[in-house]
Amino acid sequence: MQCILCDNFDTMQIQDHGNYRLFHCPFCDLVFSHPMKHPGKDFYEKHYQTRFVEPPVIRWAHKMFLNNSFIKKGTLLDIGCGRCDFLHLAQKIGFNVTGIDIDEASILEGKKRYGLQGLHIIMIDEMIDAFKDKHFDVIAFFEVLEHMVEPNSFIKQVKYLLKKGGYVFLSVPNRSRLVKSKGDRPPKHFTRWNEKSLKVLLEKNDFEILDLKKRQ
Ligand SMILES: [Zn+2]
Repeated sequence: MQCILCDNFDTMQIQDHGNYRLFHCPFCDLVFSHPMKHPGKDFYEKHYQTRFVEPPVIRWAHKMFLNNSFIKKGTLLDIGCGRCDFLHLAQKIGFNVTGIDIDEASILEGKKRYGLQGLHIIMIDEMIDAFKDKHFDVIAFFEVLEHMVEPNSFIKQVKYLLKKGGYVFLSVPNRSRLVKSKGDRPPKHFTRWNEKSLKVLLEKNDFEILDLKKRQ
């Protein structure tokens, strides 16, 4: 099976999950699914019900950004923003925020709760059209990459929407640390990343890695 990241053919099947099989590429160290195909809207409606946790929990990756970011103002796009708990805090520290998510209930709740304006219920594929003339200083996507069926195209879209010299902040489940769970299988997650594979993806798309943090 050809690697979806580095195009090498010498990959090895490591798991079989019915309609989906998982392959490991020894060159870029990515674990990826075959096929890389969404099962359709019904699957997501059945498996992902919108639940709001009270009080809002600020995730580890969000805290890392909010507490350590060397940039604290400018325009920020959060892809997969959910209920906007993070966007709300990002706005508070000085960012002009925009968020997108396909989950309507989350976006409506974000609008209602935080009064945020720049929220859009759109798919990733619609981002370029939606923000044609807008480029962001910062683009963030936390726990999003592993859901993408075309991670390479996704990164290219992100790059297109980023200002020259802009910054990307992202998080993924760390495959080296992860406790194996059903949630980490395709078609929920199509890829499993570690430091090496993430580096290959980003450097191949001309990003310079400035910092990497691992949760202990
Ligand atoms: Zn590879």
